[in-house]
Amino acid sequence: MSNIPIQPFQFPGLKTAQPLFIKREDLIHPVISGNKFWKLKYNLQRAKELGKNTLITFGGAMSNHIVATAAAGKENGFKTIGIIRGEEIADKWQDNLSLKEASKSGMEFYFVQRGEYRLKEKSEYIRSFLSLISDYYLVPEGGTNELAVKGAAEILNEDTSDFDIITTAMGTGGTLSGLSVGAKPHQHIIGFPALKNAQFLVKEILKLTDKENFTVNLDNYFGGYAKVTSELIDFINDFYLLNNIPLDPVYTGKMIFGLREMIRKGEISSDKRILAIHTGGLQGIREMNKRLKQQNKQIIIT
Ligand SMILES: *Cc1c(COP(=O)(O)O)cnc(C)c1O
Repeated sequence: MSNIPIQPFQFPGLKTAQPLFIKREDLIHPVISGNKFWKLKYNLQRAKELGKNTLITFGGAMSNHIVATAAAGKENGFKTIGIIRGEEIADKWQDNLSLKEASKSGMEFYFVQRGEYRLKEKSEYIRSFLSLISDYYLVPEGGTNELAVKGAAEILNEDTSDFDIITTAMGTGGTLSGLSVGAKPHQHIIGFPALKNAQFLVKEILKLTDKENFTVNLDNYFGGYAKVTSELIDFINDFYLLNNIPLDPVYTGKMIFGLREMIRKGEISSDKRILAIHTGGLQGIREMNKRLKQQNKQIIIT
């Protein structure tokens, strides 16, 4: 697909002559947004080839992957089941705008305690639930597997071959692995994890790509996964007002912030052409704004 817009952008608070562009994968589909579209592409194809009628996957209450899998299942004629982290949400999931969206696409939920959730299919509890369902295709948490990497590699194509540095936000590292696989020999990938203590991701990525054409910047997680600060929200809003490009608070906002810090510190040579991948995630803004409002804090402008 070579019709995804690549747009120039500027950082709020930093004037620079560095060539800065962003590939708007967030525009690829209204709900199966950004990297999730690519990560699901070959998994959906495989599930169809295997004749499966149900997709089962894992996620937290704010998960873009859950919402995307629900929508992709609906579009492709699969039933979908989400195994959701946190038993306590079972009787109040309707308050969560992301889960409500997934439910609208027909997803059914199975809420499990955090300890069981951590074990995934190794949990007896989850295994006994799975054994009740006849014929399903299991998509891993965050959607990352070899087929996801194959799909994510297609984010890079003839439109992107002039860029020297490609940047992406990271959760599981599946998208970065795909970019590593899809990159030209002259291209280098920089990943920005949205979580704390993300050093372990490097080992995970090296299981999915043979190349060492990437670095992981561990500095800009803003307290941890799905956590935000007023500095981050202000940055996202300033970026939107300056470029008319929305960023999400969990992933892409932290990535662009981290990229600005690297350029400010001179960590990237000023002649390198940079392409940031907008991996989507904008559906999460509504739930984040609901929470920020409850705390009387500045919300994200939309
Ligand atoms: C899921 C997600 C990511 C993380 O992708 P990984 O392949 O798990 O690293 C990044 N950005 C957005 C917007 C996402 O929704």
